Amino acid sequence: MGKLTMATPRLKTVRTALDEPVTYERNEYYNSQDHRAWRALIISRANGTCQWPGCNRREPRMFADHIVELRDGGSRTDPLNGQCLCGQHHSLKTYRARMERPYHHRSAHAP
Ligand SMILES: [Zn+2]
Repeated sequence: MGKLTMATPRLKTVRTALDEPVTYERNEYYNSQDHRAWRALIISRANGTCQWPGCNRREPRMFADHIVELRDGGSRTDPLNGQCLCGQHHSLKTYRARMERPYHHRSAHAP
């Protein structure tokens, strides 16, 4: 009879956006004045160029990215938690952040 091997449980604590003092529904937040102001600051601070190392691309649509994503406990409105990214690097960064989460937190949408 084979031995039953148990996977090591993942005990890492994941902070959620529920820790934030202001809570919004997802879409409500992205349409809020807070978010639009933060986004404008992040993009203008970078002169509209991608801040991914070595990229410097400038496209009609640039992304204000939360460096530590909201679902991973990052601040919504702290300018230090923002960077301006081109579409390609925003997609790559979002994918990498997802893959670093425990499997059951990897869905494309908030848990
Ligand atoms: Zn880029």
